[in-house]
Amino acid sequence: MLIVPEHLIADLISAQDCFSAVEQVFAAMARDTAYNFPVIREAIGHADALYGFKSGFDRESLALGLKSGGFWPRNADKGLTNHQSTIFLFDADTGRCRAVVGGNLLTALRTAAASAVSIRHLARADARVLGMIGAGHQSTFQLRAALDQRPFDKVVGWNLNPADLDRLAKVASERGIPFQAVDLDQLGAQADVIITITSSFAPILQAAQVRPGTHLACMGTDTKGKQEVEAALLAKASVFTDEVAQSVTIGEAQHAVAQGLIADGDITQIGAVINGERPGRVSDDQITLFDGTGVGLQDLAVASAAVDLAVERGVAIKIQI
Ligand code: NAD
Repeated sequence: MLIVPEHLIADLISAQDCFSAVEQVFAAMARDTAYNFPVIREAIGHADALYGFKSGFDRESLALGLKSGGFWPRNADKGLTNHQSTIFLFDADTGRCRAVVGGNLLTALRTAAASAVSIRHLARADARVLGMIGAGHQSTFQLRAALDQRPFDKVVGWNLNPADLDRLAKVASERGIPFQAVDLDQLGAQADVIITITSSFAPILQAAQVRPGTHLACMGTDTKGKQEVEAALLAKASVFTDEVAQSVTIGEAQHAVAQGLIADGDITQIGAVINGERPGRVSDDQITLFDGTGVGLQDLAVASAAVDLAVERGVAIKIQI
């Protein structure tokens, strides 16, 4: 079997490679040729850790496997990333382990790719101002991938701790784009596309703060109880997601569904838009909202691409088990 260690990932795979892998697997999910298995996530009662795995199978690419890992809140004290993950790929013809791949950077890249795919397919073509809510570890990945999707000429940002917005300002400046720290009213009034990427458990952005024509990619809510935008916003918007089952249970839509504002049937899988089976944006004043919950198949898709590149470049480590 092959090992592709974490430290090789940055030089192996680009954001564009991850975009293509994620777009393809979302499309396969909508064709019902790729499916995610039920997610396991447990508080293990040690080191305050949350551990689990996300898994699935794509019959088109034959990507089979799982991502295992979770959140160890005290890792930062040890000089390690709090989120830790490893991806295991299996040979779909024999069941033998094909590869073990470092999953930390790949998780960041596949999450950024998901909001970028939503912008490609749902944002207005004339979108020029990008709004960012959240300035943590994941935010710069989302920002970089989004900037590739439209010729944005301004980035506006809000974060609970405004000092962290420097991170976003730095990325915008690398791209030669002005950055402005704003309040949430200003953010909604200016932005054509808004990405939310926080760990909030209460709505940050209110429905009244969002203009007609805006596209939102809500990426932070991946657990029961988390929430980034007012539930009423989902009732006003056309809602899209990676996977409906996750959207209504652990995604941003969980609150609007629980309050009876929208039903499962109101939510469109983005893969169906990619495949041309369902309409995406149909008018310039429609609000579109992508609920990006994060599915195991995204991890398998980017890990498979990384393994292929590692083999092609002769850097994959071969071992016998
Ligand atoms: P991080 O800890 O580095 O940053 C957390 C961010 O959330 C910061 O901007 C912080 O200011 C903000 N925040 C925390 N509590 C808040 C509150 N009460 N109100 C407003 N803002 C608040 O985390 P990260 O790695 O940047 O990840 C951000 C979120 O994205 C996490 O919740 C994580 O679980 C989620 N995530 C989702 C996916 C997915 O596929 N959907 C993938 C990776 C991470």
